[in-house]
Amino acid sequence: MADQKRDYYEVLGVAKTASEDELKKAYRKLAKQYHPDMNPGNAEAEAKFKEINEAYEVLSDKDKRAKYDQFGHAGVDPNFGGGGFGGFDMGDIDLGDIFGSFFGGGFGGFGGQRRADPNAPQRGSSLRASITISFAEAMTGCEKELSLTRTESCDTCRGTGCAPGTTAEVCSECRGTGQVRIQRGGGGFAFSSSAPCSRCRGSGKIIHQPCTDCRGAGQIRRQRKIKVRVPAGIDHGQTISMRGQGNGGLNGGPAGDLLVVVAVTADPRFERDGNDLYSQRQVSFTQAALGGSLEIETIDGKVKYDLPAGTQPGFTFRLRGKGAPSVSGRGRGDQYVTVQIQVPTNLTGQQKDALLAYAEAMGEGNPAPTPVKDFFKKKKKDK
Ligand SMILES: [Zn+2]
Ligand SMILES: [Zn+2]
Repeated sequence: MADQKRDYYEVLGVAKTASEDELKKAYRKLAKQYHPDMNPGNAEAEAKFKEINEAYEVLSDKDKRAKYDQFGHAGVDPNFGGGGFGGFDMGDIDLGDIFGSFFGGGFGGFGGQRRADPNAPQRGSSLRASITISFAEAMTGCEKELSLTRTESCDTCRGTGCAPGTTAEVCSECRGTGQVRIQRGGGGFAFSSSAPCSRCRGSGKIIHQPCTDCRGAGQIRRQRKIKVRVPAGIDHGQTISMRGQGNGGLNGGPAGDLLVVVAVTADPRFERDGNDLYSQRQVSFTQAALGGSLEIETIDGKVKYDLPAGTQPGFTFRLRGKGAPSVSGRGRGDQYVTVQIQVPTNLTGQQKDALLAYAEAMGEGNPAPTPVKDFFKKKKKDK
């Protein structure tokens, strides 16, 4: 990058107050106009294209835009350690949408294959990992540690691959492009194609004194422990995206993201649907008939509920705001509790007498219990 950097807003031709939409529109228009595939061999267009991408990369990111507004280029320059620029954020914008109609399937994107400039910043690849948490942890949020191995820029050489105090030489064979043109054919036919430069192996540079830590690669595999902050309300199967915690970028490009898939173990007491929770509550026949105060288990602990007299089996009541917290941090779901009525078994003589007396009081006629066998015979006859 040149030392004299243009103002990012000026680059995109928008006001400092431009909305995200306005930024995106301005960016798309310019990106189409200056895309290298539309301007083959035009170095000026290529430089412009890079400048546009850099400006958009910063201004489309709320954090970076705020830093840029406050500190200018220093606030977002990678050399100042503040994130910085490099390639695209594939997540924010759909490249196929912008370029698809122009270039068919030919556009390789910034993710990889296109190697017009082997020393252009490239974003690192994303990593995936998974963690398992308990239902209770999902309700309150938690912090988990994750071990992973990732590629990082070598600190010793700052990713250049050169021993400290030395620099790489631009490859004279390919003039730093990493590609050489090869003429083929004969007998009236001739065509040229490009191939990776054999002198520099496509890197565009020759390192005479490789960094001993990374052996000239500029990158190093590192084992890391990453703290994952799991927000309250996360549901089974959801993914936490940790920006910049993936594999390191190349040539000063930003690191990729770390995508953490969260598995939540089941809790036998609660079932979850969206942010609502469902539970069952057993009550005795007398409690259901007479009503009374119940203690209901919620994820916050026990709460009181006044069961109305004459509650029927299957009756469901709602505890407002006792569901799962919304993962966005705003509000909570409800808890729905379904009443199940326990029919007593193994009654003592005294209890049986009490029930018989009750049946008589209810005018249920001859309350003598029907033997089970007869009961089923009767049912068949009724049909
Ligand atoms: Zn190194
Ligand atoms: Zn070369």
